[in-house]
Order: sequence, then structure tokens, then C-alpha cells
Amino acid sequence: MEKDCIFCKISRKEIPSKMVYADEEVLAFEDINPQAPVHIVIIPKKHIEKTSDITEGDIGLIGKLVFVAQKIAKEKNVSDSGYRLVFNCNKDAGQAVFHIHLHLLGGRKFFWPPG
Ligand code: 5GP
Ligand code: ZN
Repeated sequence: MEKDCIFCKISRKEIPSKMVYADEEVLAFEDINPQAPVHIVIIPKKHIEKTSDITEGDIGLIGKLVFVAQKIAKEKNVSDSGYRLVFNCNKDAGQAVFHIHLHLLGGRKFFWPPG
């Protein structure tokens, strides 16, 4: 837990969020600035800054983020139409919050390359 990290604060409920999933290790909440009709952020409660900092001991935890994401995609009815899962890492990818998070985006068509 990092004192000043926005997502650790959400995890500690010091900042309100629209939570869609929570268990002992993982949380998911609606993005405050949605980029698609469905835009959910899935995080581990453990403060890992970015994908480059994942260790072997985190493999199960990071896999769980994807598992939770696909369950939420089904609940939000975007599983059949399609969705995108994104980890932004560091400056060139536009990472703004340095607590690892998986974006679940759905409900509209996405393009490739993503730009
Ligand atoms: P990044 O660019 O780091 O991959 O994405 C960070 C995401 O966190 C952005 O989509 C941004 O809208 C979202 N975000 C930032 N601050 C907050 C907040 O306080 N609450 C919620 N729900 N989302 C946030
Ligand atoms: Zn954090």
C-alpha cells in the first residue's frame, strides 16, 4: 500500500469509486473518464507500479486480473460483441497512474493499430 497512490486510496476507500467487483486480492471499478460505453479498471490490491515490475510471484495475481476482466465483460454484455484489454506501461504508452491496472473497454468498435 502506497500512501499517495490514487488506486491504493480507492482500495482503502479513501476515494469513492463505482466498484463492480471486489475480493481479497482484486478490485474492479468504473473508470472516471470512460473511453467507451464500458470502461472498467481492474487492479490488484497489491501496489505494483507497472507491468515491468511484475515478478514471478505475481504471475497468478496478474492472471486473475484477466480472469476477472472476462467475467465482467460477460456481465456487461460485451463478451460476444468484443472488447479490448489494455495495460499501459510507462510514458510512451500514456500510463498516468503508477499502480498496475488492466483496462476493460467495450461497447463500441475499436481500431487497429490503436494509435
Ligand atoms: P492509465 O493511463 O494510467 O493506463 O490509466 C489510468 C486510468 O485511471 C485513466 O483511464 C483514468 O481515467 C483513471 N482514473 C484516474 N484517476 C481515477 C480516479 O480517481 N477514479 C477512477 N475511477 N478512475 C481514475
Ligand atoms: Zn497503489
